Amino acid sequence: MHLEPVIGLEIHVQLSTKSKMFCSCDNRSELMPPNTAVCPICLGYPGTLPTPNAAAIRAAIKLGLALGCTIAPRLKFDRKHYFYPDLPKGYQISQYDEPLCANGAFAFSVAGSQVDRARVTIGIERAHVEEDSAKSFHAATGETLIDFNRGGSPLVETVTRPDFKTPHEAKTFLQEMRLLVRALDISDGDMEKGHMRCDANISLRPVGDDKLYPKTEVKNINSFRAVERALQFEIERQTELWNSGEPPMVSATRGWNDVDQKTVPQRTKEAAQDYRYFPEPDIPPFIIGTLVDKIRIELPELPSAKRMRFEHEYGFAPTDARQIIETEGLADYAEHVVSEFYDWAASSNTDTDESVLKLRVAKLVSSWLLTKYLGVLSEVGRLFTPDTVTPENFAEFLHLIYESRLNAAAALTILKKMVMTGDHPQHLLDAEGLGNADSSIIDAWVDEVIVANPTQTTQFKAGKEAVLQFLVGQVMKKSRGTADAGVVTELLRTKLS
Ligand SMILES: [Zn+2]
Repeated sequence: MHLEPVIGLEIHVQLSTKSKMFCSCDNRSELMPPNTAVCPICLGYPGTLPTPNAAAIRAAIKLGLALGCTIAPRLKFDRKHYFYPDLPKGYQISQYDEPLCANGAFAFSVAGSQVDRARVTIGIERAHVEEDSAKSFHAATGETLIDFNRGGSPLVETVTRPDFKTPHEAKTFLQEMRLLVRALDISDGDMEKGHMRCDANISLRPVGDDKLYPKTEVKNINSFRAVERALQFEIERQTELWNSGEPPMVSATRGWNDVDQKTVPQRTKEAAQDYRYFPEPDIPPFIIGTLVDKIRIELPELPSAKRMRFEHEYGFAPTDARQIIETEGLADYAEHVVSEFYDWAASSNTDTDESVLKLRVAKLVSSWLLTKYLGVLSEVGRLFTPDTVTPENFAEFLHLIYESRLNAAAALTILKKMVMTGDHPQHLLDAEGLGNADSSIIDAWVDEVIVANPTQTTQFKAGKEAVLQFLVGQVMKKSRGTADAGVVTELLRTKLS
């Protein structure tokens, strides 16, 4: 039987607001001693009242808009009941029947995919705001310890429709979500720190069947790689069940075990009614009104749009555009470098066609900024920051290469010095004496080489093309590498023809 996977994701994003969802406790409490960022509200003391955090609601609306959702006209909270030590009130304030954001769609590119799924659109069922639970630790001694610092932190839970067809698509979507929340400046989306958490739902069905079969929910996925592996594991496990004539008959919950690289059974998922949802009586619903329009206007350019703009406006290859967007802070920097460098190049090159110049600029930026510069940084163990080498200095550096005043080896030396000292490229060039020799000196060397090698020059004039390389080599030797081989070749050809 030919089976296909049906995959959906539930993603929790912890919002990086200053205070928690319903109280004024510090929300950046991760590094604080356990149980110090707490108050009677987030500890669920009787008689306290929650006050919704406006910044968290704005952040959730931003995310909803970026995911193409419709924003609800009013904000309504519900209580979701369950008993667990990490939930002091015995219920979580969440949203049930009126999620803040619903019915969205998000399109993104999937690298290395089949052509018909290279760009996929995933439906977004809902995205709602809620408070986080506290964090429990299982000590080696068998005790369970609870840190309430995280309890009451603001979360947005996004639920996608089961539109993913491969584990790779699901992983790519998660990576897009991280880019998105960073671009929106609402979270760092760091999975390792638990600022973005993911549960994945997966079932299989015979190809051609459009029915949904009982799904397995995989929890405890804490990295991009884990989501892909956990789903791949489930595809294999469920395929065996189908092939043995025993497909899953009921929905199940399993946990991903990163050490053993497999999923293991967990408690069976409660149905919605088990949570005994009811409207939160302490927070009356309120009308959101024109806030949505204000936020819509303030939305920044979204990563997928920016990536496409870098391809079309600047002529970057798709993989280069992707790398620029995915390296934090690099997009603004690259844009600054391109515009400065383009101006330099355009001013010294009046006869080059605009579109040709644009591509040459993009090519130099991608090879020197993306490959060599990031390479040099990782060699010296540094992360990209916009002020290691200012964009102005980088643009001027590229212009030196563009004007053939630096050959590749000398350029790399200068680049390393720029990283180490932050100094100006022209200044370093003068100090190091690495610049290409100027044309009058090259001219003289070429003449000398022609005079000194009469046999070879005669051979070349007689049509022995290969001799030219020998003559170029002689000039390069005289210049000790400071001459540009292309310039020398041209000069020799002119003089000998
Ligand atoms: Zn509190």
